[in-house]
Parts: sequence; structure tokens; C-alpha cells
Amino acid sequence: MKNFFDLQFSELEALLESLSQPRFRAKQIWQAVYCNLVSSWLEITNLPSQLRETLQAEYSFSSFSLTEKINAFDGSSTKFLFELSDGNALEAVILRSDERITLCISTQSGCPVGCVFCATGKYGFYRNLTSGEIVEQVVALARLLKETGESVSNIVIMGMGEPMLNYDATLAAIRRFNDPRGLNIGARRITISTIGIPEKVRQFATENLQVNLAISLHAPNDPLRRELVPIAQKYMIASILSACREYVDSTHRRVTFEYVLIDGVNNLPQHARELSTLLKGLLCHVNLIGLNPTSHYSGRAPQKQAVRDFGKVLLDHHIPTSIRNSQGSDIQAACGQLAGKLTGRSRSS
Ligand code: SF4
Repeated sequence: MKNFFDLQFSELEALLESLSQPRFRAKQIWQAVYCNLVSSWLEITNLPSQLRETLQAEYSFSSFSLTEKINAFDGSSTKFLFELSDGNALEAVILRSDERITLCISTQSGCPVGCVFCATGKYGFYRNLTSGEIVEQVVALARLLKETGESVSNIVIMGMGEPMLNYDATLAAIRRFNDPRGLNIGARRITISTIGIPEKVRQFATENLQVNLAISLHAPNDPLRRELVPIAQKYMIASILSACREYVDSTHRRVTFEYVLIDGVNNLPQHARELSTLLKGLLCHVNLIGLNPTSHYSGRAPQKQAVRDFGKVLLDHHIPTSIRNSQGSDIQAACGQLAGKLTGRSRSS
């Protein structure tokens, strides 16, 4: 069975043409799936029954199943664990704040980057998700939100995986989120978060998308970054920042730098000064996030005052900086805590 969500609109049009159907059928189906959020072909009642049966025999609207759902105590987030058709896992999170409902979604099952403080990094890497599996996370959660009269306002591609190591599928999914005929989520409400792969940052700059770019830096120098982000051996900070400068020059959009603060490791005053020097003159914003605990890493978040002190050094150097609160840490759904545990199940690699 094929996954409907792997289809681009043009591929759906071609499929319907091959079935001798009029062109408007593609729009009907697209609207039913992405606007009305149907979960079965039977619900698309404006299609001829024979066409429904033909499509139902070939295309499914569910390539993974929900195995666990956990709500944070304060109701601010809900974590979902899904089992893919091959037994691998993926996680996605609904984050609620003020007027926003943000979905945090995954692009890979596991992650090859291996950040030492991240549960997903410890979980290992299993495989890239298809564009359909990435899109389906948003549709599946949008359907659940619809039951309570809610809808998706923002998407952050910050769940399991490094999106720029699954570039084509991630970009195809972003274009689907942004498609005005379907989900119609504004590009400025979508954020892609990467550890910074210079050639992919440059490629991303050419995509003509208003999507926000966030780079997970976590250290102001290469030796320290290599300790925290093992894959950083391949990507020097200077070359990432050079790609970011080109990105800003060609898109006129700012870059956000994510910096997870670990007490006594990367939060010393000299680290803040080094970071300020690195980012001087670059159109950017820094998000500081205290480390979320995981069972695999002994590092701790600094005290709140130490986080504020770090931020003050950046602000004093005219680097726009925010301190971000983590949502969902009590359910292991915050940044760095997604681990994709399939309790009592085996995974395929
Ligand atoms: S923090 Fe992100 S990039 Fe690093 S291991 Fe975890 S999921 Fe991968």
C-alpha cells in the first residue's frame, strides 16, 4: 500500500489523468485531505464510488500508528509516539502557548548527529522519513486538534533527526505545509532547525521560501562544539557562519542561533564573549535554553541567574537574545528529550 501523503499535487493530477478523471478531482481530493482532514477515502463523498474504491485499494491515509500519548502536567504540551510501518519510531509534540499551537515534528527516525546531551542522539539513527511521513505527522495532529476545535498555527522542524540530512523530503514537506490549496500554513510560521550543514544552508537560501532558519550552535569554538556535537568535526563554525552570512545576504532574513546552556561546560563568561565576537555584525537572534535533563547525560542546566548573566553579555554586545522556557520537560518532550522509545517492541534498522 502506498502512502497518499508522498504524492505531490502534480503527481495526484497525473494519477487521476491516468484513470481518465477530470482535472478538478485532484483539487477535490486535496481539499478533502488537507483542509477537511478526512482520514478515509469513504469520507470523500463527492467522488464517484468506483474511483474511491480504486484509490482506496492503492493509497492509504495512515502509514504509522499512535502507540503512546502523554500530556504534560500543566497541559502545555502533548507528546505522541508513533510506530512506522517497518517498526521504527518517530515522535511529535503539540506545544501550546498564548494564542499559538505549535507542532514539533521529526524528519528522521533517530538521529545520526549524536549530540551528547540529546536523548534522540543516544537512541541512534534508523532511517530518513519520507516526505509523506513528515507531512502525515502534521495531518495526524491537525485531525486530533480539530476534535477540540483547535488548529495548527506554527510548525517547528525540531523533533527527531537532522532535517538537512534528509533535505529533499523535508523541503517537499515544507512546500506541502505551505500549499495554499491545502494546509496553508504561512512560511513565516514554519521553522527549520539544523546543526548547520554549510552547503545545505546555501541551498536553502536559494529555495525562495520565507521559512525561519535556526542553527543549533551550542558552543562558541570548534573544540568545545566537537565535544557536544560529534558531527561538528565535519563542519567548522567559521564555515557555518560564512554560509549564514551568505544566507542573510541573499534572503535578507535573520538567522536564529539556538544555544543549549550546560552548567560549567559552555556557559562561562568567556563563552558568552566568544559567542558575541563570532556573531558580531550578523543579522541574527540568539535563543538561550537551559539544558533539559536526560538519563544519558550528567550535565545540568545552569541556575536561572547564570542564564540571565550569559544573555546579558550578548545583549551588551548588541546581539539580540531571548531566554526560552522549555515546555514539556516533565514528559520528556522538550528539546533534546525525544527518545523514540517503543516500549516492549523491537525496531528494525
Ligand atoms: S539535538 Fe537534534 S541534531 Fe542533536 S542529536 Fe538531538 S535530534 Fe539530533
